[in-house]
Order: sequence, then structure tokens, then C-alpha cells
Amino acid sequence: MISFEHVFKRYPERGEALSDLSFEMESGEMAFLTGHSGAGKSTLLRLIGLLERPTRGQVIVNGRNLGALPRRKIPYHRREVGMIFQDHRLLPDRSVFDNVALPLVVAGLGHKEIGRRVRAALDQVGLLSRERATPVALSGGEQQRVGIARAVVGRPPLVLADEPTGNLDPDLSREIFGLFERFHQVGVTLLIATHDLGLVMSMPYRTITLADGRLANDSRTW
Ligand code: ADP
Ligand code: ADP
Repeated sequence: MISFEHVFKRYPERGEALSDLSFEMESGEMAFLTGHSGAGKSTLLRLIGLLERPTRGQVIVNGRNLGALPRRKIPYHRREVGMIFQDHRLLPDRSVFDNVALPLVVAGLGHKEIGRRVRAALDQVGLLSRERATPVALSGGEQQRVGIARAVVGRPPLVLADEPTGNLDPDLSREIFGLFERFHQVGVTLLIATHDLGLVMSMPYRTITLADGRLANDSRTW
């Protein structure tokens, strides 16, 4: 599902964020991505989501060579990749429903289908009763669950999360990781960047570790 072959990413003013990175992920795998701040985790996720292009090397996702993908095909790729951010990036003046519906509205789905899918996604994250609330009325954990509902509402085969529990306490973090496990159980491929080593070690999944833009370790904890 994901293949990095000798990937380099250089930001003009900062030098190399990723250096000669190669790894693969199978469809249906769930993996954690760890490493110090600045190790290149966000950059790696942004390459997969095609928010950035590699400077050198090949990034292949869902059979697409992203470095060579024509600009007009980027929206098709983005629809197949759900992205979750630490700061959840919700629209503060829109309802929970509207926030989650956004990717489906952009994709041009019909009114009824949007309603059906948004409620299914909200139900999955346990927020069906809050669809009319605005994000400011929600707790941090609830806001992140809305971000997760928005990422999965289009049923993407691949979900990326960048420090999804960075602002949450341990109980809420465990709850969010539990949601990810549920998606894993229904076949979604997940790659989750996190500093939360305690949680990572307590769960039986592959862990990919970066250090200074290079692959430092790739293992299963159990
Ligand atoms: P992590 O997510 O592991 O903290 P990042 O991928 O955010 O690491 O950053 C890797 C390196 O690339 C850091 O040195 C960071 O400052 C740099 N970097 C990240 N994004 C940009 C950018 N848009 N422009 C310039 N440098 C960047
Ligand atoms: P995170 O830890 O979630 O990756 P960062 O603080 O690293 O967040 O980055 C937030 C934003 O700032 C990202 O869009 C990233 O591209 C950008 N960024 C990070 N480092 C740099 C940098 N050295 N120069 C310019 N932009 C950067």
C-alpha cells in the first residue's frame, strides 16, 4: 500500500528533513511512527498525503507514484487518504455535522448520502448526539474525535495521524488509540506519528522510528 524507495526531502532553507528513507507498509497494517521532534515524522506523512513532493526517490501509495502524479489527479489521491492532525483543524464556526461533511461536499456527493455517511462516522466516534454543536462547545477529546470522523467519513483505505493525542491526557489518548484499533479491525491501513511511547509499547503493532530523517529502527514491540 505504501512504498518509500530511497526517498530524500530537502526544504530549501533547512537542509534535509528525510534522507535515503526506504520502507514498505502492507494494506491493512497498523503502525506507529516515532522519533524525536524534528526527526521527519510530519514530513513523511505529508509526502504520503501529497501535501509535499519528494526531492528524490519514489513514494508509491495505492499503486500511484506520487512524485510523478499530475496535479489534476491530486484530489483523487487525497480522497483515499484520511488525515488527522494534533490541532484537529476544525472550522470553529461550523457545526460538527458540517465539519465532518466537508470532504463529502467537496467530493460532490448528494445531500441524502452525505447525511447518511456523516451520521455513520459520528456514530463510530460516539458523537452522534453532538452533530449540531460547534467545536468550541466540545472538550479536547471530543474535538479530536470530530477530526477523526472527518478523516474517515469518505471511507479512505489509508488513514494518517500526526500526533493525534499530543494535547490529550492519558485516558483520552487511550480512547483515541482504541478508535484506531477499531478501524484497523475493519481493514483500514493506519500510520500514526506519536511521542506517546508508553501507549505504543503497550500495543502489539509495528513501530517505525526515525532519527534525523533516517530510518533508525523498524520493529514490532511484541
Ligand atoms: P517531526 O514531525 O518529526 O517533528 P518534521 O517533519 O516536522 O519532523 O521536521 C523535520 C525537519 O524538517 C525539521 O528540521 C523541520 O524544522 C523541517 N521542516 C519541516 N517542515 C518544514 C517546512 N515546511 N519548511 C522548512 N523546514 C521544514
Ligand atoms: P508538527 O509537530 O505537528 O509537525 P510543526 O511545528 O513541526 O508541527 O510544523 C507545523 C507547520 O510548520 C508545518 O506545516 C510545517 O511544514 C511547518 N514547519 C515546521 N518546521 C518549519 C521550518 N523550519 N520552517 C518552515 N516551516 C516549518
